[in-house]
Amino acid sequence: MIFSPLEILLCLAPFMLIMLTIGLGLYAQNVALARRELERNTRKCPHCKGLLNPEAYVCRFCSRELVRELR
Ligand SMILES: [Zn+2]
Repeated sequence: MIFSPLEILLCLAPFMLIMLTIGLGLYAQNVALARRELERNTRKCPHCKGLLNPEAYVCRFCSRELVRELR
């Protein structure tokens, strides 16, 4: 018996759906991780609230000098 392309597609559809779901889940996790990493590696300028590199001496948005805070 030879299956028609539609029948083959119908058989594969659930697997493809599962793969798609897993892919989307991994993608969402990746995006969330990247955002968390970005938030951890930045600090806000006290003058303009722009996100800055924690090593920065001068704000790149308002060009004001940043006071180094002790950690
Ligand atoms: Zn600033």
